[in-house]
Amino acid sequence: MFRGANDKGSAGPKAGIEISMGDGGALGESAASAQSVVVFEDADHLLPLMRSVCDLGLGAVDGGTDFDPETVLAVLISWRADPELQKATLAAQHWPVIFIAEDGGFESRLKATRAGVTAVLIDPIDITELGSWLNGFDETRKPAPSIVIVDDDVILSELYAAVLEAAGMYAHIVNDPRQALDAINMIRPDLVLLDIEMPNVNGLELASVLRQSRRNLSTPIVFLSAERDEDKQQAARNIGGDDFISKPVDLDRLAAVVRMRADRAIALKQIIESDSLTGLLNHARFKERLALEMERSARTGSPLSVCILDIDKFKSVNDRYGHQVGDKVIQTLSQALTGGLRRTDVVARYGGEEFAIILLDTDVAGAAVVMNRIRERFGEIILNGAGEAFSTTFSAGIAQSTDRAKANDVLAMADARLYQAKATGRNRIVVG
Ligand code: GH3
Ligand code: MG
Ligand code: MG
Ligand code: MG
Repeated sequence: MFRGANDKGSAGPKAGIEISMGDGGALGESAASAQSVVVFEDADHLLPLMRSVCDLGLGAVDGGTDFDPETVLAVLISWRADPELQKATLAAQHWPVIFIAEDGGFESRLKATRAGVTAVLIDPIDITELGSWLNGFDETRKPAPSIVIVDDDVILSELYAAVLEAAGMYAHIVNDPRQALDAINMIRPDLVLLDIEMPNVNGLELASVLRQSRRNLSTPIVFLSAERDEDKQQAARNIGGDDFISKPVDLDRLAAVVRMRADRAIALKQIIESDSLTGLLNHARFKERLALEMERSARTGSPLSVCILDIDKFKSVNDRYGHQVGDKVIQTLSQALTGGLRRTDVVARYGGEEFAIILLDTDVAGAAVVMNRIRERFGEIILNGAGEAFSTTFSAGIAQSTDRAKANDVLAMADARLYQAKATGRNRIVVG
Protein backbone atom coordinates (compact mmCIF):
# COMPACT_ATOMS: atom_id res chain seq x y z
CA MET A 1 0.00 0.00 0.00
CA PHE A 2 1.07 3.49 -0.76
CA ARG A 3 1.96 5.96 1.95
CA GLY A 4 2.08 9.57 0.96
CA ALA A 5 4.65 12.08 2.09
CA ASN A 6 2.01 13.98 4.02
CA ASP A 7 0.84 10.85 5.78
CA LYS A 8 1.17 11.98 9.32
CA GLY A 9 -1.04 12.08 12.34
CA SER A 10 -1.76 9.91 15.32
CA ALA A 11 -2.65 6.25 15.15
CA GLY A 12 -6.13 4.95 15.73
CA PRO A 13 -9.56 6.53 15.77
CA LYS A 14 -10.29 9.40 18.09
CA ALA A 15 -13.56 9.92 19.91
CA GLY A 16 -15.19 7.16 17.94
CA ILE A 17 -14.26 8.73 14.67
CA GLU A 18 -12.39 7.00 11.95
CA ILE A 19 -9.99 9.36 10.39
CA SER A 20 -9.38 8.46 6.86
CA MET A 21 -5.92 9.89 6.52
CA GLY A 22 -2.94 8.90 8.58
CA ASP A 23 -4.41 5.99 10.50
CA GLY A 24 -1.23 4.06 9.97
CA GLY A 25 -2.68 2.09 7.03
CA ALA A 26 -2.89 3.22 3.49
CA LEU A 27 -3.08 6.91 2.99
CA GLY A 28 -6.56 7.99 2.28
CA GLU A 29 -8.74 5.16 3.43
CA SER A 30 -10.12 4.09 6.79
CA ALA A 31 -9.27 0.60 7.97
CA ALA A 32 -12.89 -0.52 8.14
CA SER A 33 -13.50 -0.35 4.42
CA ALA A 34 -10.00 -0.69 3.02
CA GLN A 35 -10.90 -0.43 -0.62
CA SER A 36 -8.15 0.47 -2.98
CA VAL A 37 -7.51 1.49 -6.53
CA VAL A 38 -4.74 -0.31 -8.40
CA VAL A 39 -2.78 2.15 -10.47
CA PHE A 40 -0.76 1.38 -13.59
CA GLU A 41 1.30 4.37 -14.62
CA ASP A 42 4.87 5.03 -15.71
CA ALA A 43 7.49 5.85 -13.08
CA ASP A 44 7.41 9.60 -13.63
CA HIS A 45 3.67 9.99 -13.23
CA LEU A 46 2.88 7.21 -10.73
CA LEU A 47 3.21 9.09 -7.47
CA PRO A 48 1.09 12.13 -8.34
CA LEU A 49 -1.65 9.87 -9.70
CA MET A 50 -1.63 7.70 -6.58
CA ARG A 51 -1.76 10.79 -4.45
CA SER A 52 -4.81 12.02 -6.35
CA VAL A 53 -6.55 8.73 -5.61
CA CYS A 54 -5.66 9.10 -1.93
CA ASP A 55 -7.03 12.63 -1.90
CA LEU A 56 -10.38 11.08 -2.81
CA GLY A 57 -10.29 9.04 0.40
CA LEU A 58 -9.27 5.73 -1.16
CA GLY A 59 -6.16 3.62 -0.88
CA ALA A 60 -3.83 3.48 -3.87
CA VAL A 61 -1.73 0.49 -4.84
CA ASP A 62 1.05 0.42 -7.41
CA GLY A 63 -0.01 -2.07 -10.08
CA GLY A 64 3.62 -3.17 -10.36
CA THR A 65 3.53 -4.67 -6.85
CA ASP A 66 1.58 -7.54 -5.28
CA PHE A 67 -1.89 -6.52 -4.23
CA ASP A 68 -4.83 -8.18 -2.55
CA PRO A 69 -7.45 -8.81 -5.27
CA GLU A 70 -10.21 -8.85 -2.62
CA THR A 71 -9.86 -5.18 -1.76
CA VAL A 72 -9.72 -3.79 -5.29
CA LEU A 73 -12.44 -1.27 -6.07
CA ALA A 74 -11.18 -0.40 -9.56
CA VAL A 75 -8.11 -0.40 -11.76
CA LEU A 76 -6.74 2.83 -13.15
CA ILE A 77 -4.50 2.46 -16.19
CA SER A 78 -2.77 5.18 -18.14
CA TRP A 79 -1.93 5.09 -21.83
CA ARG A 80 1.72 5.51 -20.90
CA ALA A 81 1.74 2.24 -18.94
CA ASP A 82 -0.47 0.27 -21.29
CA PRO A 83 -0.44 1.62 -24.84
CA GLU A 84 -1.91 -1.56 -26.32
CA LEU A 85 -4.51 -1.97 -23.58
CA GLN A 86 -3.31 -5.47 -22.78
CA LYS A 87 -3.30 -4.88 -19.04
CA ALA A 88 -6.71 -3.27 -19.36
CA THR A 89 -8.10 -6.33 -21.14
CA LEU A 90 -6.89 -8.64 -18.37
CA ALA A 91 -7.97 -6.40 -15.51
CA ALA A 92 -11.41 -5.82 -17.03
CA GLN A 93 -12.23 -9.48 -16.50
CA HIS A 94 -12.22 -8.88 -12.74
CA TRP A 95 -12.74 -5.23 -11.97
CA PRO A 96 -14.04 -1.99 -13.45
CA VAL A 97 -11.21 -0.39 -15.41
CA ILE A 98 -10.73 3.34 -15.91
CA PHE A 99 -8.40 4.11 -18.78
CA ILE A 100 -6.56 7.40 -18.95
CA ALA A 101 -6.28 8.08 -22.66
CA GLU A 102 -3.94 10.40 -24.45
CA ASP A 103 -6.85 11.76 -26.46
CA GLY A 104 -10.61 11.38 -26.48
CA GLY A 105 -11.08 10.56 -30.15
CA PHE A 106 -13.50 7.91 -31.28
CA GLU A 107 -10.81 5.40 -32.29
CA SER A 108 -9.15 5.34 -28.89
CA ARG A 109 -12.51 5.10 -27.16
CA LEU A 110 -13.52 2.21 -29.39
CA LYS A 111 -10.24 0.43 -28.63
CA ALA A 112 -10.92 0.94 -24.93
CA THR A 113 -14.47 -0.39 -25.29
CA ARG A 114 -13.16 -3.51 -27.00
CA ALA A 115 -10.70 -4.02 -24.14
CA GLY A 116 -13.63 -3.98 -21.71
CA VAL A 117 -12.86 -0.56 -20.22
CA THR A 118 -15.73 1.00 -18.25
CA ALA A 119 -14.67 4.64 -18.30
CA VAL A 120 -12.25 6.77 -20.29
CA LEU A 121 -10.68 9.90 -18.82
CA ILE A 122 -8.51 12.23 -20.85
CA ASP A 123 -5.01 13.06 -19.70
CA PRO A 124 -4.59 15.28 -17.65
CA ILE A 125 -7.51 13.86 -15.73
CA ASP A 126 -10.28 15.76 -14.03
CA ILE A 127 -10.06 14.55 -10.45
CA THR A 128 -13.72 15.34 -9.77
CA GLU A 129 -14.74 13.09 -12.63
CA LEU A 130 -12.42 10.33 -11.38
CA GLY A 131 -13.99 10.61 -7.93
CA SER A 132 -17.50 10.35 -9.37
CA TRP A 133 -16.64 7.19 -11.31
CA LEU A 134 -14.97 5.56 -8.31
CA ASN A 135 -17.94 6.37 -6.08
CA GLY A 136 -20.21 4.84 -8.68
CA PHE A 137 -18.25 1.57 -8.55
CA ASP A 138 -18.57 1.28 -4.81
CA GLU A 139 -21.48 -1.12 -4.28
CA THR A 140 -21.55 -0.33 -0.56
CA ARG A 141 -22.38 3.28 -1.41
CA LYS A 142 -25.02 2.43 -3.97
CA PRO A 143 -28.45 3.20 -2.61
CA ALA A 144 -31.01 0.41 -2.94
CA PRO A 145 -33.61 1.58 -5.48
CA SER A 146 -37.06 2.23 -4.16
CA ILE A 147 -39.90 0.94 -6.37
CA VAL A 148 -43.65 1.57 -6.25
CA ILE A 149 -45.73 -1.26 -7.70
CA VAL A 150 -49.24 -0.33 -8.81
CA ASP A 151 -51.32 -3.39 -9.66
CA ASP A 152 -54.90 -4.21 -8.74
CA ASP A 153 -54.02 -7.88 -8.35
CA VAL A 154 -53.05 -8.33 -4.71
CA ILE A 155 -51.35 -11.69 -5.09
CA LEU A 156 -49.42 -10.75 -8.21
CA SER A 157 -48.23 -7.46 -6.74
CA GLU A 158 -46.97 -9.31 -3.68
CA LEU A 159 -45.11 -11.71 -5.93
CA TYR A 160 -43.48 -8.83 -7.81
CA ALA A 161 -42.54 -7.16 -4.54
CA ALA A 162 -40.92 -10.35 -3.27
CA VAL A 163 -38.91 -10.70 -6.46
CA LEU A 164 -37.71 -7.09 -6.35
CA GLU A 165 -36.85 -7.28 -2.65
CA ALA A 166 -34.89 -10.47 -3.26
CA ALA A 167 -32.93 -8.53 -5.89
CA GLY A 168 -32.00 -5.88 -3.32
CA MET A 169 -34.66 -3.24 -3.94
CA TYR A 170 -37.31 -1.70 -1.70
CA ALA A 171 -40.82 -2.39 -2.97
CA HIS A 172 -44.03 -0.58 -1.99
CA ILE A 173 -47.36 -1.96 -3.15
CA VAL A 174 -50.39 0.10 -4.12
CA ASN A 175 -53.44 -1.94 -5.18
CA ASP A 176 -55.87 0.96 -5.62
CA PRO A 177 -54.77 3.20 -8.52
CA ARG A 178 -56.61 6.15 -6.92
CA GLN A 179 -54.13 6.06 -4.06
CA ALA A 180 -51.07 5.79 -6.27
CA LEU A 181 -50.42 9.51 -6.78
CA ASP A 182 -50.28 10.27 -3.05
CA ALA A 183 -48.11 7.22 -2.42
CA ILE A 184 -45.69 8.16 -5.19
CA ASN A 185 -45.46 11.76 -4.04
CA MET A 186 -44.70 10.58 -0.54
CA ILE A 187 -42.28 7.76 -1.31
CA ARG A 188 -40.49 9.52 -4.20
CA PRO A 189 -39.56 6.19 -5.79
CA ASP A 190 -36.75 5.64 -8.28
CA LEU A 191 -39.18 3.78 -10.56
CA VAL A 192 -42.89 3.03 -10.88
CA LEU A 193 -44.00 -0.41 -12.03
CA LEU A 194 -47.47 0.11 -13.41
CA ASP A 195 -50.13 -2.39 -14.42
CA ILE A 196 -52.13 -1.20 -17.42
CA GLU A 197 -55.31 -3.23 -16.94
CA MET A 198 -56.90 -1.97 -13.76
CA PRO A 199 -60.57 -1.26 -12.93
CA ASN A 200 -61.79 2.38 -12.75
CA VAL A 201 -58.45 3.99 -13.55
CA ASN A 202 -56.20 2.27 -16.03
CA GLY A 203 -52.42 2.39 -16.04
CA LEU A 204 -52.19 4.70 -19.04
CA GLU A 205 -54.44 7.26 -17.36
CA LEU A 206 -52.47 7.02 -14.17
CA ALA A 207 -49.19 7.51 -16.08
CA SER A 208 -50.66 10.65 -17.69
CA VAL A 209 -51.66 11.95 -14.29
CA LEU A 210 -48.15 11.35 -12.95
CA ARG A 211 -46.56 13.13 -15.89
CA GLN A 212 -48.68 16.24 -15.26
CA SER A 213 -46.39 17.31 -12.43
CA ARG A 214 -42.78 18.18 -13.00
CA ARG A 215 -41.54 16.29 -9.98
CA ASN A 216 -42.73 13.04 -11.57
CA LEU A 217 -41.62 13.88 -15.08
CA SER A 218 -38.37 11.98 -14.94
CA THR A 219 -39.40 9.05 -12.76
CA PRO A 220 -39.14 5.95 -14.96
CA ILE A 221 -42.40 4.06 -15.56
CA VAL A 222 -42.34 0.41 -16.55
CA PHE A 223 -45.70 -0.89 -17.73
CA LEU A 224 -47.02 -4.37 -17.09
CA SER A 225 -49.60 -5.61 -19.52
CA ALA A 226 -51.14 -8.60 -21.17
CA GLU A 227 -51.46 -6.39 -24.24
CA ARG A 228 -49.62 -7.84 -27.25
CA ASP A 229 -50.69 -5.19 -29.74
CA GLU A 230 -47.58 -3.25 -30.84
CA ASP A 231 -49.61 -0.08 -31.50
CA LYS A 232 -51.02 -0.08 -28.00
CA GLN A 233 -47.55 -0.66 -26.57
CA GLN A 234 -46.30 2.31 -28.56
CA ALA A 235 -49.19 4.39 -27.23
CA ALA A 236 -48.03 3.52 -23.72
CA ARG A 237 -44.51 4.71 -24.57
CA ASN A 238 -45.90 7.92 -26.03
CA ILE A 239 -47.33 8.97 -22.70
CA GLY A 240 -44.00 8.50 -21.01
CA GLY A 241 -43.61 4.79 -20.37
CA ASP A 242 -39.96 3.80 -20.43
CA ASP A 243 -40.37 0.07 -20.83
CA PHE A 244 -42.96 -2.58 -21.30
CA ILE A 245 -43.10 -6.02 -19.70
CA SER A 246 -45.64 -8.52 -20.97
CA LYS A 247 -47.84 -10.55 -18.69
CA PRO A 248 -47.42 -13.34 -17.75
CA VAL A 249 -44.27 -11.80 -16.37
CA ASP A 250 -40.89 -13.45 -16.64
CA LEU A 251 -39.75 -12.77 -13.07
CA ASP A 252 -36.00 -12.77 -13.81
CA ARG A 253 -36.53 -10.28 -16.58
CA LEU A 254 -38.72 -8.15 -14.32
CA ALA A 255 -35.98 -7.85 -11.70
CA ALA A 256 -33.31 -7.18 -14.34
CA VAL A 257 -35.27 -4.50 -16.22
CA VAL A 258 -36.42 -2.71 -13.06
CA ARG A 259 -32.92 -2.75 -11.56
CA MET A 260 -31.26 -1.46 -14.72
CA ARG A 261 -33.79 1.36 -15.22
CA ALA A 262 -33.76 2.35 -11.55
CA ASP A 263 -29.94 2.35 -11.32
CA ARG A 264 -29.74 4.56 -14.38
CA ALA A 265 -32.34 6.93 -12.97
CA ILE A 266 -30.38 7.17 -9.72
CA ALA A 267 -27.11 7.81 -11.57
CA LEU A 268 -28.72 10.58 -13.65
CA LYS A 269 -30.27 12.13 -10.58
CA GLN A 270 -26.88 12.20 -8.91
CA ILE A 271 -25.34 13.98 -11.88
CA ILE A 272 -28.15 16.53 -12.03
CA GLU A 273 -28.12 17.16 -8.31
CA SER A 274 -24.38 17.50 -7.86
CA ASP A 275 -22.35 20.64 -8.15
CA SER A 276 -20.46 20.76 -11.44
CA LEU A 277 -17.22 22.26 -10.13
CA THR A 278 -16.70 19.81 -7.26
CA GLY A 279 -19.06 16.88 -7.89
CA LEU A 280 -20.38 17.38 -4.36
CA LEU A 281 -24.02 17.50 -3.33
CA ASN A 282 -25.67 20.82 -4.03
CA HIS A 283 -27.42 23.08 -1.54
CA ALA A 284 -30.95 21.80 -2.06
CA ARG A 285 -29.98 18.14 -1.87
CA PHE A 286 -27.90 18.78 1.22
CA LYS A 287 -30.91 20.14 3.07
CA GLU A 288 -32.98 17.14 2.08
CA ARG A 289 -30.26 14.79 3.29
CA LEU A 290 -29.90 16.70 6.54
CA ALA A 291 -33.61 16.40 7.30
CA LEU A 292 -33.41 12.67 6.60
CA GLU A 293 -30.28 12.10 8.68
CA MET A 294 -31.69 14.14 11.57
CA GLU A 295 -34.80 11.98 11.62
CA ARG A 296 -32.61 8.89 11.65
CA SER A 297 -30.42 10.29 14.40
CA ALA A 298 -33.47 11.16 16.53
CA ARG A 299 -34.73 7.61 16.06
CA THR A 300 -31.47 5.82 16.81
CA GLY A 301 -30.17 8.27 19.39
CA SER A 302 -26.77 8.50 17.75
CA PRO A 303 -25.35 12.02 17.61
CA LEU A 304 -25.00 14.05 14.44
CA SER A 305 -23.05 17.23 13.84
CA VAL A 306 -23.31 19.83 11.13
CA CYS A 307 -20.41 21.98 10.02
CA ILE A 308 -20.56 25.02 7.77
CA LEU A 309 -17.29 26.42 6.50
CA ASP A 310 -16.21 29.34 4.39
CA ILE A 311 -12.84 30.11 2.82
CA ASP A 312 -11.09 33.08 4.41
CA LYS A 313 -10.50 36.23 2.39
CA PHE A 314 -11.40 34.45 -0.78
CA LYS A 315 -12.18 37.65 -2.66
CA SER A 316 -8.52 38.56 -2.48
CA VAL A 317 -7.55 35.18 -4.02
CA ASN A 318 -9.82 35.91 -6.97
CA ASP A 319 -8.60 39.49 -7.22
CA ARG A 320 -4.94 38.56 -7.11
CA TYR A 321 -4.82 35.33 -9.13
CA GLY A 322 -8.01 35.30 -11.13
CA HIS A 323 -11.24 33.37 -10.99
CA GLN A 324 -9.79 30.17 -12.45
CA VAL A 325 -7.24 29.88 -9.69
CA GLY A 326 -10.07 30.60 -7.26
CA ASP A 327 -11.99 27.66 -8.74
CA LYS A 328 -8.94 25.45 -8.28
CA VAL A 329 -8.85 26.41 -4.59
CA ILE A 330 -12.51 25.43 -4.24
CA GLN A 331 -11.73 22.05 -5.84
CA THR A 332 -8.72 21.53 -3.62
CA LEU A 333 -10.79 22.18 -0.51
CA SER A 334 -13.49 19.85 -1.80
CA GLN A 335 -10.86 17.08 -2.11
CA ALA A 336 -9.38 17.85 1.30
CA LEU A 337 -12.87 17.46 2.78
CA THR A 338 -13.87 14.23 1.03
CA GLY A 339 -10.42 12.76 1.62
CA GLY A 340 -10.32 13.75 5.28
CA LEU A 341 -13.81 12.66 6.29
CA ARG A 342 -15.40 9.25 6.47
CA ARG A 343 -16.97 8.14 3.24
CA THR A 344 -20.36 7.95 4.93
CA ASP A 345 -20.21 11.62 5.94
CA VAL A 346 -22.10 14.01 3.69
CA VAL A 347 -20.21 16.86 2.05
CA ALA A 348 -21.92 19.57 0.01
CA ARG A 349 -21.01 22.74 -1.78
CA TYR A 350 -23.34 25.03 0.09
CA GLY A 351 -22.65 28.22 -1.82
CA GLY A 352 -19.81 29.83 -3.78
CA GLU A 353 -16.89 29.11 -1.46
CA GLU A 354 -18.97 27.72 1.37
CA PHE A 355 -19.27 24.05 2.21
CA ALA A 356 -21.62 22.16 4.51
CA ILE A 357 -20.95 18.79 6.11
CA ILE A 358 -22.99 16.23 8.02
CA LEU A 359 -20.80 14.18 10.36
CA LEU A 360 -22.75 11.07 11.22
CA ASP A 361 -22.48 9.37 14.63
CA THR A 362 -20.33 12.27 15.77
CA ASP A 363 -20.82 14.77 18.58
CA VAL A 364 -19.51 18.35 18.36
CA ALA A 365 -16.32 17.50 20.24
CA GLY A 366 -15.52 14.70 17.82
CA ALA A 367 -16.47 16.85 14.84
CA ALA A 368 -14.16 19.60 16.06
CA VAL A 369 -11.23 17.16 16.21
CA VAL A 370 -11.77 15.98 12.64
CA MET A 371 -12.48 19.41 11.20
CA ASN A 372 -9.52 21.00 12.95
CA ARG A 373 -7.23 18.38 11.51
CA ILE A 374 -8.58 19.09 8.02
CA ARG A 375 -8.29 22.83 8.66
CA GLU A 376 -4.63 22.52 9.63
CA ARG A 377 -3.81 20.36 6.64
CA PHE A 378 -5.66 22.56 4.21
CA GLY A 379 -3.74 25.57 5.50
CA GLU A 380 -0.49 23.75 4.67
CA ILE A 381 -1.37 23.01 1.07
CA ILE A 382 0.76 25.07 -1.28
CA LEU A 383 -1.30 26.47 -4.12
CA ASN A 384 -0.10 28.12 -7.25
CA GLY A 385 -1.32 31.29 -8.86
CA ALA A 386 0.34 33.45 -11.48
CA GLY A 387 3.67 31.78 -10.78
CA GLU A 388 3.37 32.57 -7.10
CA ALA A 389 2.98 30.09 -4.25
CA PHE A 390 0.26 30.84 -1.73
CA SER A 391 -2.00 29.12 0.75
CA THR A 392 -5.45 29.79 2.14
CA THR A 393 -7.44 28.92 5.24
CA PHE A 394 -11.06 28.45 6.19
CA SER A 395 -13.27 29.17 9.15
CA ALA A 396 -16.09 26.97 10.34
CA GLY A 397 -18.96 26.65 12.77
CA ILE A 398 -20.21 23.33 14.13
CA ALA A 399 -23.55 22.52 15.78
CA GLN A 400 -24.96 19.28 17.06
CA SER A 401 -28.43 18.11 16.18
CA THR A 402 -30.76 17.70 19.12
CA ASP A 403 -33.92 15.64 19.42
CA ARG A 404 -36.43 18.33 18.61
CA ALA A 405 -34.37 20.62 16.44
CA LYS A 406 -35.31 21.27 12.83
CA ALA A 407 -32.70 21.14 10.08
CA ASN A 408 -32.88 24.92 9.67
CA ASP A 409 -32.24 25.50 13.39
CA VAL A 410 -29.08 23.42 13.36
CA LEU A 411 -27.88 25.10 10.17
CA ALA A 412 -28.58 28.55 11.65
CA MET A 413 -26.62 27.61 14.76
CA ALA A 414 -23.62 26.38 12.74
CA ASP A 415 -23.82 29.50 10.59
CA ALA A 416 -23.86 31.80 13.60
CA ARG A 417 -20.74 30.07 14.89
CA LEU A 418 -19.06 30.42 11.52
CA TYR A 419 -19.77 34.14 11.72
CA GLN A 420 -18.20 34.16 15.18
CA ALA A 421 -15.11 32.35 13.83
CA LYS A 422 -14.78 35.03 11.17
CA ALA A 423 -15.27 37.83 13.68
CA THR A 424 -12.65 36.47 16.06
CA GLY A 425 -9.80 36.21 13.60
CA ARG A 426 -10.59 33.50 10.95
CA ASN A 427 -8.71 30.20 10.37
CA ARG A 428 -10.58 28.69 13.31
CA ILE A 429 -13.56 26.56 14.21
CA VAL A 430 -16.21 27.57 16.73
CA VAL A 431 -18.26 24.82 18.34
CA GLY A 432 -20.29 26.77 20.88
P1 GH3 B 1 -14.32 36.12 4.49
O1 GH3 B 1 -13.06 35.68 5.13
O2 GH3 B 1 -15.04 37.11 5.33
O3 GH3 B 1 -15.19 34.98 4.10
O4 GH3 B 1 -13.88 36.90 3.20
P2 GH3 B 1 -14.20 36.56 1.70
O5 GH3 B 1 -13.39 37.43 0.84
O6 GH3 B 1 -14.07 35.12 1.47
O7 GH3 B 1 -15.68 37.05 1.65
P3 GH3 B 1 -16.95 36.31 1.12
O8 GH3 B 1 -17.04 34.98 1.72
O9 GH3 B 1 -18.11 37.23 1.36
O10 GH3 B 1 -16.68 36.30 -0.44
C1 GH3 B 1 -16.77 35.18 -1.19
C2 GH3 B 1 -16.20 35.45 -2.55
O11 GH3 B 1 -16.07 34.21 -3.22
C3 GH3 B 1 -17.08 36.27 -3.43
C4 GH3 B 1 -17.04 35.63 -4.79
O12 GH3 B 1 -16.41 36.46 -5.71
C5 GH3 B 1 -16.18 34.41 -4.60
N1 GH3 B 1 -16.77 33.23 -5.20
C6 GH3 B 1 -17.99 32.72 -4.96
N2 GH3 B 1 -18.19 31.61 -5.73
C7 GH3 B 1 -17.07 31.43 -6.46
C8 GH3 B 1 -16.69 30.46 -7.44
O13 GH3 B 1 -17.41 29.52 -7.80
N3 GH3 B 1 -15.45 30.58 -7.99
C9 GH3 B 1 -14.62 31.60 -7.61
N4 GH3 B 1 -13.42 31.64 -8.19
N5 GH3 B 1 -14.98 32.53 -6.72
C10 GH3 B 1 -16.18 32.45 -6.13
MG1 MG C 1 -54.63 -5.69 -13.58
MG1 MG D 1 -18.67 33.29 1.66
MG1 MG E 1 -15.20 33.65 2.44
